[in-house]
Amino acid sequence: MSIASERAPHPLGTHRVLEPAGAMPQNAHRLDNTPVAFEGERLCDVDVLNIDSASFRQIADACDGDPARIADHVRAIVSERGKMHNPVTGSGGMFIGTMRATGERIASLVSLTLTPLHIEAIERVDVGTGRIWIRGSAILFATSLWAVLPDDIDENVALAVLDVAGAPAQTLRLCRQGQTIAIVGADGKSGLLACAQAKARVGERGRVIGIAPSKQTVTAKLLIEHAYVDDFIVADARDARGMSDALVRIAPGLADVTINCVNVAGTELGSILCTKDRGTVYFFSMCTSFTAAALGAEGVAKDVTMIVGNGYARDHAQIALQTLRDHPEIHTHFQRTYASRNRP
Ligand code: NAP
Repeated sequence: MSIASERAPHPLGTHRVLEPAGAMPQNAHRLDNTPVAFEGERLCDVDVLNIDSASFRQIADACDGDPARIADHVRAIVSERGKMHNPVTGSGGMFIGTMRATGERIASLVSLTLTPLHIEAIERVDVGTGRIWIRGSAILFATSLWAVLPDDIDENVALAVLDVAGAPAQTLRLCRQGQTIAIVGADGKSGLLACAQAKARVGERGRVIGIAPSKQTVTAKLLIEHAYVDDFIVADARDARGMSDALVRIAPGLADVTINCVNVAGTELGSILCTKDRGTVYFFSMCTSFTAAALGAEGVAKDVTMIVGNGYARDHAQIALQTLRDHPEIHTHFQRTYASRNRP
């Protein structure tokens, strides 16, 4: 008999919290992951986990990139916590699965950090994309968001895009005609989608500046060749002076909006320095430290609005998938990198 079954089911999933008492599922240390749907819950058979990039990078580094050790590491986290909640980065990811009751193929739109997850077996780890194929099951609470997978987009591609859906949706919301937008970590999944949205939004008079560690990646080349960026800066975002000096050289007025899409820590100040006074910094990165951002901005006397990268924005799933449909070359790139033919 599970603990959750003895408690009154709650739409927010609090009946699944094992410890500490009073915690919500997201900040709980441990959840009851019994694979049975209680009232209001939906049980899903899970095939693929898309581990959040910051989390996967940390785990892969700790395991020297060895798929077998990464699988053991993930299994250990889930068996201790009842959810895939990386204790180091605090981040999760999302899953693809089948809703047991309806047979619908879905992607979860809530974090794995709050999703009761039961793993029977790990079948394959793809170190290149941070995806893990499993046999297992997950619980969605009454309030959990999910998306039915579209027919016109490969489901592994959809998973990769939906994981970062907040980024293109917030970019659309924040950017205006004629503005200068800096996108840090431009050649990653969220960075690429954010560049496409920003470019469409700022129009002819605006400017999108992509920043990443190399111009040589396939994604960086795609951004430049298809003019999703007007300028591309090669910089390490952890080097605040180096990155912002490079930006000042080509855009002395600085960015109206800076969008941080990196998967490493220590990039807050560089993003702040790239942004003009009264501008906006959107920290989509899960490696963002509130303290570093708040004290960093104060320390350099920058009056910027800083936005926490809420993973949810209204209609974010549709906006993210539509970004692919509107930009066939980005769709092709995602297809090459993430499509189902890469399955085990
Ligand atoms: P991704 O595809 O792995 O991209 C990460 C990007 O950061 C790449 O362009 C990478 O460049 C770049 N980067 C790494 N180190 C850098 C450095 N020192 N200087 C400049 N750029 C650097 O990651 P993603 O899936 O787009 O996710 C991006 C971030 O969003 C992660 O932190 C992830 O955890 C977070 N996230 C947030 C939410 C949310 O709800 N807020 C949801 C999902 C993910 P190279 O590839 O060239 O190394």
